[in-house]
Amino acid sequence: MNIILFGPPGAGKGTQAQQIVKKHNYFQLSTGDLLRNEVKKSTALGMEIEKKISEGNFVTDEIVNSLLKKSISELKYRDRIIFDGYPRTINQSKNLDIILNEFDQKIDLIVSLYVPREIVDKRIAGRVTCDNCNITLNKYFNEDEIRLHPCGAEQFIKRKDDNSESLINRYDIYMETTKPVIDYLSKNQNFHQIDGTLGISEITAKIDTFINA
Ligand code: AMP
Repeated sequence: MNIILFGPPGAGKGTQAQQIVKKHNYFQLSTGDLLRNEVKKSTALGMEIEKKISEGNFVTDEIVNSLLKKSISELKYRDRIIFDGYPRTINQSKNLDIILNEFDQKIDLIVSLYVPREIVDKRIAGRVTCDNCNITLNKYFNEDEIRLHPCGAEQFIKRKDDNSESLINRYDIYMETTKPVIDYLSKNQNFHQIDGTLGISEITAKIDTFINA
């Protein structure tokens, strides 16, 4: 089964994807992570990506699609991919269909996490990410987990784009550009919307029911 997880920045897509990976041995294909890994390489391409991300703007389809295709083409991930952060536009949605078709794959489950703007603001304020393994936690709610994290508490950094200016831009872009993709896909039988303000384990349990159905 391949899954798409939708949700505005700070909705908990990454957290839920990590839960599914742990429980069901899936592969989390986060385009944000793929792009941040390119930035770490400090190449010209990495610098171009960093500029877009720090402004809260989209990276070009050309760059994202080539990174995405590389991952989808890996046979070991067949039928076990969670798309986190892709597709974000109608064009990307069409492109995903084309790439999946090419590798004889399809989307079996679509989950959209709904979280109002005020909650997103609060969550993003405390969000920190391990620079080594990319796990995302909240410095106000997960103090112990951060302290005991195997990669070391000092590995946790705040993402550059988690500031209020860039967040407003990312949230607006989400509503303008990604929401229409969700509205379009919501007509499918395999589409489910979940209240993203519920607790982490409650949301995971709901997603589990869809996976096990
Ligand atoms: P995320 O980790 O999903 O919040 O993504 C962080 C940033 O990476 C976004 O704000 C965009 O700048 C860029 N990005 C991630 N996924 C995509 C995508 N599918 N298309 C364009 N840009 C993306």
